[in-house]
Amino acid sequence: MTRTLASYLAGRWQTGTGTPSALSNPATEEILAHTSSAGIDLGEAMAFARAAGPGLRALTFAERGALLGAMAKAMHGAREELIALAIANGGNTRGDAKFDLDGAAATLAHYAELGAQLGKARVLVDGDAVQVGRTARLVGQHVWAPRPGVAVHINAFNFPAWGVAEKGACALLAGMPVVAKPATATALVAHRLMELWAPLLPPGALSLLCGSAGDLLDHLRGPDVLAFTGSSDTARMLRSHPRVVAESVRVNIEADSLNAAVLGPDVSPGTETWNLFLADVVRDMTQKTGQKCTAIRRVLVPHDRMDEVAQAMVERLGAIAVGDPSRDDVRMGPVATAQQARDVRAGIARLAAATTSVFGGDGAIAPVGVAAGKGYFVGPVVRAAADAMACAPLHEHEIFGPVSTIAGYDGQVATAAAILARGGGGLVTSIYGDDRDWVGGLVVLAAGWHGRLYLGSEKMAAQSPGPGTALPQLLHGGPGRAGDGGELGGSRGVHLYMQRCALQGDASVIKGLLA
Ligand code: NAP
Repeated sequence: MTRTLASYLAGRWQTGTGTPSALSNPATEEILAHTSSAGIDLGEAMAFARAAGPGLRALTFAERGALLGAMAKAMHGAREELIALAIANGGNTRGDAKFDLDGAAATLAHYAELGAQLGKARVLVDGDAVQVGRTARLVGQHVWAPRPGVAVHINAFNFPAWGVAEKGACALLAGMPVVAKPATATALVAHRLMELWAPLLPPGALSLLCGSAGDLLDHLRGPDVLAFTGSSDTARMLRSHPRVVAESVRVNIEADSLNAAVLGPDVSPGTETWNLFLADVVRDMTQKTGQKCTAIRRVLVPHDRMDEVAQAMVERLGAIAVGDPSRDDVRMGPVATAQQARDVRAGIARLAAATTSVFGGDGAIAPVGVAAGKGYFVGPVVRAAADAMACAPLHEHEIFGPVSTIAGYDGQVATAAAILARGGGGLVTSIYGDDRDWVGGLVVLAAGWHGRLYLGSEKMAAQSPGPGTALPQLLHGGPGRAGDGGELGGSRGVHLYMQRCALQGDASVIKGLLA
């Protein structure tokens, strides 16, 4: 008998009926648990969360921050157990599992600290007061107030802990109750987190729906916020959901992104910047088996450096053992589901028609410590395109796995910018160079297409976490293909769950209100 994952909705654990979905170990294909949300009254769940709003909004930022601090602390107490779950249900190596879990705890801690800094306030001041009358008596002052609704969070399979924590931290700090839905296939970690967090939070502040979303979105109302991470196909469906459209529900989307790394023409082999570039590209290909929304897919390299970059990547990737992620000697595990493995292989085949092979062929691999024929494994694959601009599939389809393409360009800022723009808008691009004029020129042209630009250089190399880490201090989200969303970024991420309101009146009244 496998376990059944219940949902935590309307203040109690509830198990659905109907045909359950299976959650498996992607390395062994063993079924770990089942879950179903069929038959659960999601209208009741949303109403219960909605009713928790006034209590949450009555708390100060410091008090809401303290709740987040308690959530982070609870994660530390259960760290080893959570790591084991992430290894089993996510195909994570121990390092991958820590990346997700520690990222989640650090984000909660960051927003706990922000809450402490904001202290006893309940609204955020936005800019300075401006005189709008004949004298300084009549002023206008913008503020941010909590939205009086529910934050519905639909998360992706790749970060079951970080996803629920980063969205949850911002919404709870703003004063909005949350109904979170983890991706079904990897929900074990989020489920355990809910067990840990439920006793720490006011009833209704955080609910968890395990299994399909059912009719959840039919219960959305105008002041609610719908935040989603996943595929652009699902994003399109959610954005055009009749209830979202009719009620003008605020929507935030993190979807596909063809993130790039650009090697500047001044960067020579063996320099700090060269080594940083290679380390970042190889880490992004293999960490979490390339299943990170921020992972580098397009590697733009000046034509005359293509061979050297290819050779260096072959050497580094050749040293990475792929297999059972619970083993200490394995550095890369499987992708998360059978469907993901099929999608990644189909993506490689599409790319193969327009590129040449540098490493890994079509991704077929004999994984270490895994029974023959078992598991959803795809080995690291590097392809090459002599002319980045001419390689259409490179810019059109995100392969969500350990796959990247080295693509040649002429070293010119304008060419690099035009190639980046072909991705249609992205979460992050990394630019490697020590020629500040060259880097500055590219930043100006590329910034409008991206949520974040990571500038890799000699002087910062020693302290860089790499472009693949979404830091709570910095914006996470990007325009166009990436969904045009914006999460995190310190207090900016909290604004997503707040309403900007202009106060217009007597200067001393407004000052008194905000004191
Ligand atoms: P997905 O099918 O879009 O699923 C993402 C989330 O949406 C899951 O929680 C899923 O629930 C839920 N969902 C699916 N259909 C829904 C609906 N009709 N109403 C409400 N919720 C719905 O994406 P995926 O299969 O996890 O990944 C597919 C691709 O998305 C990847 O290959 C990758 O290209 C991209 N992706 C991007 C990011 C990113 O951060 N940018 C992250 C992950 C994936 P269930 O799990 O219950 O179906």
